Amino acid sequence: MTSLSMTIDGLPVTTTAGLAVENPADGRIFATAPACSPEQLDTAVAAARRAFPAWSALSHEARRGYLEACAKALGAAVPEIGALLTREQGKPLTKALAEVQLSAGWFSDTAGLELAEEDLGDEHAAIRLRRRPYGVVGAITPWNFPLILAVCKIAPALLAGNTVVLKPAPETPLSSLLMGAVLCDALPPGVLNVVTGAGRVGRLLVEHGGVDKISFTGSVATGTAIAEATARRLQRPTLELGGNDAAIILADAPIAEIAHRLFWAAFENSGQYCSAVKRVYAHRAVYPEVVAALVHEAEKVTVGDGIDPDTELGPLVSEHHLAYVAGFAEEAVAGGATVATGGYRLDRPGHFYAPTIVTDLAAGSRLEMLEQFGPVLPIMPYDDVDDAVTRANATCFGLGGSVWGARDSAAAVAAELDCGTVWVNTHGELRHNVPFGGVRSSGAGVEYGYLGLLEYTRVKVTFMRSA
Ligand code: ADP
Repeated sequence: MTSLSMTIDGLPVTTTAGLAVENPADGRIFATAPACSPEQLDTAVAAARRAFPAWSALSHEARRGYLEACAKALGAAVPEIGALLTREQGKPLTKALAEVQLSAGWFSDTAGLELAEEDLGDEHAAIRLRRRPYGVVGAITPWNFPLILAVCKIAPALLAGNTVVLKPAPETPLSSLLMGAVLCDALPPGVLNVVTGAGRVGRLLVEHGGVDKISFTGSVATGTAIAEATARRLQRPTLELGGNDAAIILADAPIAEIAHRLFWAAFENSGQYCSAVKRVYAHRAVYPEVVAALVHEAEKVTVGDGIDPDTELGPLVSEHHLAYVAGFAEEAVAGGATVATGGYRLDRPGHFYAPTIVTDLAAGSRLEMLEQFGPVLPIMPYDDVDDAVTRANATCFGLGGSVWGARDSAAAVAAELDCGTVWVNTHGELRHNVPFGGVRSSGAGVEYGYLGLLEYTRVKVTFMRSA
């Protein structure tokens, strides 16, 4: 049994109460993680508060150096953390290793960002605008990309001069715990604290009087609860919530050329990511070809234990989540839809669900309107592209969307999609220097790049009259 400690004030801290951590590829409990007590959470927040004055007083250049040290430390731990990530989350080992490597690189990339003062003075006054850190940032993360989603918060929060308490998801606490232990040697005590536990620990962190800013990635329901709780203290959280991204395939799209990319934009991480393609609208002229091409892609994928080098898609994260995803397919079929491929769980231990393509879906059904967050993709035909755009924009979500076809016509349709990021002939690609965020129920604020960094700062103006 693997057993890892929390990191509080630079020290390993454990508990008698533990979270059981399951390998989703076989359903077996293989590790325990600490269940943080309210007192331990107080200690973590207090440690972050104590570390804040010295950390925020450092120069930008000095903090940049610490972020580079974090990049190095994390880079050296890629094999170890990657293996744990596959065991607790299920994703193929190559993808897990890539996620940890990306996270190490994210520290370096973020370290390159500037946070310059602005001179707004005139002949009557010297006016300087400075960006100051909030204080203690509570970072709460989900189970789908535990490492990179944590680092996307930690790196900019630290660079801006904040200290951090990270609370990862109870399904996948281990990779974050190990990261906490690894980064502990690269940072002063208390600057980064990692505590683990169920949603209750997240709620206590959100409601904690010693926390100045929350950055959250997760469900709309929890994001809404966080927005309500932080509003009482007039805090503005950064919320990266769900998506129901549509891909619109135009009549002139080269289907054979795009099918592979489109498939993986929907099924990467077994469909368990916020900006996956969650529904496809294909022009009727190419609809049969789109369905056939995506069915072909789905049927040639190797689904299995992430530790097996041939595996391309791993299991779903939990039995609970498998039931949630399967429910979408079952309800669609009950409503008259056709399963073109898949539609069943694999006959083996673990939480495996076959890559599934659904056609003949009734308009307005749950699979079209809500987020399945798994390997079940509906493909719907359209005759008039305006109708496809209307349906793409008609859900409560607004994270991403894409249009596939000849560049100019695709760009014109893309302009009509009402979401945070719209892609043309690709989907879900992210860059460290490009802001990412959703509108409506998909979130508030942005992450990544300069604008993402500003989310961890408040404005302080000094106004000095000349005479
Ligand atoms: P999911 O349904 O995918 O598990 P959640 O939004 O419930 O998504 O979980 C994302 C993260 O939020 C996890 O770390 C979880 O423990 C935490 N969490 C759950 N409920 C709350 C809450 N009420 N307040 C703060 N964090 C929470």
